Amino acid sequence: MSLPVRPCPIVLAAPSGAGKTTIARTLVDNPDRFVFSVSATTRPPRPGERDGVDYYFLDDAQFQGMVERGELAEWALVHGYKYGTPKKSFAEAAASGVHLVLDIDIQGARQVRESVPDAVLVFILPPSGEALVNRIAGRGGEQREETRRRLMAAHTELQRAPEFDYIVVNDQLDDAIRQVLAIVDAERLRASRMAGVEGEIRRLQREIDDIVKRSLSS
Ligand code: ADP
Ligand code: 5GP
Repeated sequence: MSLPVRPCPIVLAAPSGAGKTTIARTLVDNPDRFVFSVSATTRPPRPGERDGVDYYFLDDAQFQGMVERGELAEWALVHGYKYGTPKKSFAEAAASGVHLVLDIDIQGARQVRESVPDAVLVFILPPSGEALVNRIAGRGGEQREETRRRLMAAHTELQRAPEFDYIVVNDQLDDAIRQVLAIVDAERLRASRMAGVEGEIRRLQREIDDIVKRSLSS
């Protein structure tokens, strides 16, 4: 019997530095199961970033156009720039039979809860305040004041964790990835996601009925 599994979108949200991008990138290393959700942003590209791969880099008017045409499933102002998830990515991932992986901020994740009820929301926590500081600092590029600003934002954002479907502590990266994969596996088997499971159940019932009939007539 093969169950009619429908891959669901996976939203990874976390305070900056907790490790959601690292986890998301590891998942999408398996393209048979996962595809990265490429966001639109007004932030200028960093060295090495490619348009259409890392982000769709837009100017303010282009981004506003997408908002007005209702083309974004969510959008938010993050660290002074606009970021949003194109709605079309959900349909494309579903057509390919893979999970769309969203690496977005917490305000955005809360909007996805409304606009894409099918999505699974995972909040990634750092194991400690010290680990969070070290990870933000270790990533480089952040000035002292910026690090402080991100930590203050983290303090507030953590309050939202209980609203999510799952919480994963990213202490050892391998463990965190294993836990996210376990969530994905469990969600795939949710009865409510199985469109057409009734047909499979009826087929199984018919098989059982046949066996019962045969055993009665022998
Ligand atoms: P986020 O996307 O949540 O802002 P990143 O994925 O960019 O965070 O991770 C921040 C930094 O922490 C990166 O340098 C990354 O390599 C590192 N990192 C991520 N997960 C772990 C982990 N489990 N242990 C140690 N360092 C980690
Ligand atoms: P960065 O500019 O460092 O790539 O990302 C900054 C922040 O914006 C990260 O927390 C990232 O998760 C978030 N982000 C990226 N894309 C989106 C998006 O489409 N929507 C929202 N709400 N946040 C996003």
